[in-house]
Amino acid sequence: MRRYSIQTKIVLPFLLLFAVVTVVLPLITVEFFAWKYGEQFTRETQGWLDVIIETGYIRNNEKVKQAYSVEVMIFGSDYTLNTSTLTGLPDEEQDWENLAEKMRLREVKQRLLAMTDGVEGQVLALQIHSDSAPITHDITLGGRPYKVFYLLLSPGRFYCLLRPMEEIAAAKRTLAWSMFGMGILVMATVALISHLIGRNLTVPIKSLVEFTQRVARGKLDETCEVKTQDEIGELAAAFNAMTQELEQSRDKLIQAERLATAGKMSASFAHEIRNPLSSMRMLGQMLMRKRDISAERHQQSVRYILEEIERIDGIVKGLMDFARPTTLNLVKQPLMPALQGVLSLMEANLVHHQIGLVQRFAPGLPEIRFDLDKLKQAFMNVVLNALEAMPQGGTLTVSAIETEEKICIKVTDTGVGIREEDLPQLFEPFFTRKTKGTGLGLANVKRVLEEHGGSVSVESTLAEGTTVSMWLPSA
Ligand code: ADP
Ligand code: MG
Repeated sequence: MRRYSIQTKIVLPFLLLFAVVTVVLPLITVEFFAWKYGEQFTRETQGWLDVIIETGYIRNNEKVKQAYSVEVMIFGSDYTLNTSTLTGLPDEEQDWENLAEKMRLREVKQRLLAMTDGVEGQVLALQIHSDSAPITHDITLGGRPYKVFYLLLSPGRFYCLLRPMEEIAAAKRTLAWSMFGMGILVMATVALISHLIGRNLTVPIKSLVEFTQRVARGKLDETCEVKTQDEIGELAAAFNAMTQELEQSRDKLIQAERLATAGKMSASFAHEIRNPLSSMRMLGQMLMRKRDISAERHQQSVRYILEEIERIDGIVKGLMDFARPTTLNLVKQPLMPALQGVLSLMEANLVHHQIGLVQRFAPGLPEIRFDLDKLKQAFMNVVLNALEAMPQGGTLTVSAIETEEKICIKVTDTGVGIREEDLPQLFEPFFTRKTKGTGLGLANVKRVLEEHGGSVSVESTLAEGTTVSMWLPSA
């Protein structure tokens, strides 16, 4: 069976693609902006530091704090905090060892000294107006994020400028979220559009599939409604043309079959009435020639002639019944009472021939549309054949079940069975193996069922028994 519809195949790849884009793109964008901004930020702060040194503000921390909205911390060469504009730090951050560790002073000092081969006096000069990137660290003090810029003053003292990063972090968050939101929006739009495109494609295909299924069920007089101006529309048009041709050739075939049947029937019919006709002719000629026959003999000959006329009449009636075009009187009704009605008519017959009856009707069979008289007649023909096949007694089993929009009635006997070479001819008019049979029973059964849109089939094993299955559409 098909596991993914065309629509899913269209929608899913697009969604996956956009899902990846929505996640990756904001991440890259935000990181890129943060990096660019960080560079600018560092250059700007470097400028401030230059100004602070040149103007001598380096000795006036409060002024610096006011002018640039930054915090200033100065540490001694033993890493203890000398002065700070940042107040209200929690206790553990006030412990000098901890604070020096947190500010990463030792590490920074080593790196700064490495720049001048350990000559402390030259470090400051090197740091000012330097084009190389200054040493910075991101730290958190008192629960707030800062970017720290370091200056190594002699002798071994640290001047630390702390720029608050809160706003930048908030801006980064806002950017990330808005990018993410936009991504979701785009994704929803893509999902909607691809769903619409998919549906646009699959709806006509679905109705085309339904149409072909109806055609497969034999409804050739229908046309496909798909009228799109694309390949699917062309396909539908081609299908319509095809079913029309199919219908025409089916009609032709039916016509040809009818003619063939009519030919066969007239041949059989001629054959059937020839025998009684020739015996009538002989009897007539005899009565003409012999005037001196006894009254009793005369009487008997006339009785024979009348019997033969009776036989011909029977054949003609049967044929007329068979050949007369009929209209079905279709009524929606339960099947079981119809079958049981026929079986109760047979009761005496069954007892007389010592035939046991088994009925197996599935519970909850739906009501179906059928012509009560015609179906009863057909069922009766089948049951009569079964009885005639069991002259020494046996078992007659009648069952009815529903399978795949069809109801199947099965009549099984434990009778003489049918020879294999007879099977293909059973349903032909006038085919009979009985001395007094007409050979019209099964032909009639077949016709009635086919008129109902159903069918009939026979399975048989010689000397074991026969099953006749009659199928009727339940929808
Ligand atoms: P008829 O009963 O007049 O012979 P049918 O058309 O009813 O005509 O049956 C045709 C032939 O099919 C029968 O003559 C018989 O040979 C065979 N037949 C039909 N039903 C059965 C059956 N249940 N068991 C054995 N033979 C059967
Ligand atoms: Mg019969």
